[in-house]
Amino acid sequence: MDEHEFESYMKAGEIACRALKYGTSIVREGARVLEIAQSIESMIRSLGGDLAFPVNISINEVAAHYTPVPGDELRVPPGAVVKIDVGVHVDGYIADTAATVSLDPSRASLLDACREALERGLQAVSPGTKFNEFGRVVETVLKSRGFKPVYNLSGHSLDRYTIHAGDVIPNYRDIRCFSRFRDGRAYALEPFATPGSGLVEDGPYITIYAIRYSPKKVRSLSEDAKRFLEEVYSTRKSLPFATRWYVDSYGPKLESILKELRKSKLLIEYPVLIERSRSVVAQFEHTIVLYKGRVYVTTAQC
Ligand code: MN
Ligand code: MN
Repeated sequence: MDEHEFESYMKAGEIACRALKYGTSIVREGARVLEIAQSIESMIRSLGGDLAFPVNISINEVAAHYTPVPGDELRVPPGAVVKIDVGVHVDGYIADTAATVSLDPSRASLLDACREALERGLQAVSPGTKFNEFGRVVETVLKSRGFKPVYNLSGHSLDRYTIHAGDVIPNYRDIRCFSRFRDGRAYALEPFATPGSGLVEDGPYITIYAIRYSPKKVRSLSEDAKRFLEEVYSTRKSLPFATRWYVDSYGPKLESILKELRKSKLLIEYPVLIERSRSVVAQFEHTIVLYKGRVYVTTAQC
């Protein structure tokens, strides 16, 4: 990792930190989720960041991967547990950070446990620490408070323009995992906590997509689909996107464009993830960079 890369990770982290702080401060019962997402996204842009993925606002038993759709009427319900997950990039270098707000005071212990699991896990990390050790700390904190981690959601290494760069960092002591945190690398660490089963499953709808790759020759696609593919891939590569970003320029054609890309296997789809026993889920996430032997929590300084 060179100085430019490090500085870009730090800048993305500060922007993401500020955007998340703002986002959690505007969650109110009855607020439109679309408006919350849009105002966080405009703040990211005005601070000089690009969106690494659409702002996710996942409520109650929806653990992750919900972003508002065009014209979304969803409002924050009474007593909701609201997770806001923000992704910023600067020149492709990503900050990925999340926090949970509860409008139900009785959920405070769940949120506290999850926040503390992340903090204690972070304290355990230095170059050479096993991913497993992070997971062990997270699981121990959560279980001591009467909760479970979500076993099938994990942290991940980050790379330029790549959110899931290969390494998987478990939120429990996974005996099959032997890898270690390495200097010169960036990671997103994200415990999810629940009083429920501790597993998520794919939900029935999709709000987040990405382009798998952009082939040199695509004979079978319509002109509209080619234009869309070119526009998204040239600006975002395979970073995820929301349909609401493109609905103004493509209008009702967008649905058929996505259908074509799906058929050609050029579309990645991220279904919403729902807790299997329909229990509420909390999440806290920070991005860290290991640089010259030190650990920097890029999304904690703002
Ligand atoms: Mn995230
Ligand atoms: Mn993440």
